[in-house]
Amino acid sequence: MSRTVLVTGGNRGIGLAIAQAFAKQGDRVAITHRGSGAPDGLFGVQCDITDSESVDAAFAAVEAELGPVQVLVANAGVTDDTLLLRMSEEQFTRVLDTNLTGAYRCAKRASAKMLRAKWGRMIFISSVVGLSGGAGQVNYAASKAGLVGVARSITRELGTRNITANVVAPGFIETDMTAVLSEERKAEILKSIPAGRMASPDEVASVVTWLAGDSAGYVSGAVIPVDGGLGMGH
Ligand code: NDP
Repeated sequence: MSRTVLVTGGNRGIGLAIAQAFAKQGDRVAITHRGSGAPDGLFGVQCDITDSESVDAAFAAVEAELGPVQVLVANAGVTDDTLLLRMSEEQFTRVLDTNLTGAYRCAKRASAKMLRAKWGRMIFISSVVGLSGGAGQVNYAASKAGLVGVARSITRELGTRNITANVVAPGFIETDMTAVLSEERKAEILKSIPAGRMASPDEVASVVTWLAGDSAGYVSGAVIPVDGGLGMGH
């Protein structure tokens, strides 16, 4: 059965791979972008997830075109790394406002329609860093750890209504976000990954489409690492 899927930040990187994987299996897929436009074959809505009016308008546009969102993939996220001593409060709150509060805004907007339909899937894209921490990433790690609390609380609130909420925690994936790492840092990271390589965005997408499907209906409140063994299951 084809479903209406919304992927935030689905215009590039991991989000785009996720959106394309859903489209390939026949779902109706919408993505958010902040002005880049939509990639071919996907329905695009402009949305800044730090602004609840913008989130509301994006959901309304998706509903008008494709119907209520049945699968939400809260993927959009940013980094702004620096050591704690140098991290300004603005740097901390800006990353939290996008990665954590942004996911809350989308989940809240999606939940009303999911409750009415008595079916829904919410998938939050966290990070291995949310569970293990990362030097220079107090803001990012806090935001990504927070998603675990969000998904688990939603599971408790909405579990009886056929609504699941799960977290996917990628390790190092080849996208614009990791392209900025120095070769030195990349070599260092590779040494710590049991798989000995970074992953392609498609390897995250396949886990997300599985979580959204009927066969994963009894999986909720889970954190699923996609990290080549880096976090050893955490
Ligand atoms: P990219 O930097 O390639 O893409 C980030 C996406 O988020 C873009 O689509 C961007 O939109 C969107 N975005 C950022 N801020 C906002 C905002 N305020 N409102 C709406 N959209 C926004 O990242 P990746 O594809 O690498 O990462 C995707 C997710 O996966 C992120 O949450 C990231 O933290 C997580 N992740 C990534 C890992 C990696 O190794 N790459 C590892 C672990 C987790 P725009 O194009 O308009 O800027």
